[in-house]
Amino acid sequence: MNKSDKVIISEYQENEINKICENCKNEDQSVVNNFILTGFKYCESCRISKTIFPI
Ligand SMILES: [Zn+2]
Repeated sequence: MNKSDKVIISEYQENEINKICENCKNEDQSVVNNFILTGFKYCESCRISKTIFPI
């Protein structure tokens, strides 16, 4: 990871709207991590429930 990559991730995590879960509308830092990993803006509990009970 070079310096510019680190800056981009830092700015992304500081953007409050990216922390809002699209499913339950709660703000959680895990939403950012799950969006980076899965492409879905879900909090940890929603991600787990979607994994167990997919639509
Ligand atoms: Zn949620």
